[in-house]
Amino acid sequence: TSGETITAAKIDSLSSHFPMCMKNLHTAVRRDKHLRHFGRLQYGLFLKGIGLSIDEALIFWRQAFSKFTDDQFNKEYRYNIRHSYGLQGGGRNYKPMSCQQILMDRPPGTGENHGCPYRHFSLDNLTVAMGRMMGVEDRSVISGVRQDVEAKKYHLACNRVFEYLHEKELKKRDGGAERKETITHPNEYFDKSWALKN
Ligand code: SF4
Repeated sequence: TSGETITAAKIDSLSSHFPMCMKNLHTAVRRDKHLRHFGRLQYGLFLKGIGLSIDEALIFWRQAFSKFTDDQFNKEYRYNIRHSYGLQGGGRNYKPMSCQQILMDRPPGTGENHGCPYRHFSLDNLTVAMGRMMGVEDRSVISGVRQDVEAKKYHLACNRVFEYLHEKELKKRDGGAERKETITHPNEYFDKSWALKN
């Protein structure tokens, strides 16, 4: 969707355009060399949505899961990745998950990293993670996010962070005009972020 060929090697640098849910999964897979089932599903479908082909997806996951042997990888994970691209078992073509789905689906348990940080992190962890993962240290943004979260308006918190991170570009694009659109899908977040920076 970004108009550029997305390869496994580019995911690290592209992650600067990811919403926090996907940044969180990316950070987790780099740290743990593994992701549990629902994390693989949420992140894998998102990557497919940004244009990662099945071949590049297999490269990405094989390299990411570096603590496993080829044999283990082929046995445990290869099938699922192909399956999520509709190439195995039934051939259903799975769509990347919307915020609504991510917010309503099964919440992450211990050792799991799927879900929406704005909803599933404690307020304190969220504040730390906003700084570490998204580079958001601005106090008024952080307190705005905390208010959104307390009002259970999670996607507003996400939009607030998006607008803060793209403040300059949005001003340039819209002038002083008020923006009415809100992001309701992680892939929409990526596409908009990409379009504003390129
Ligand atoms: Fe991801 Fe949507 Fe949550 Fe933003 S609001 S972090 S895009 S699930």
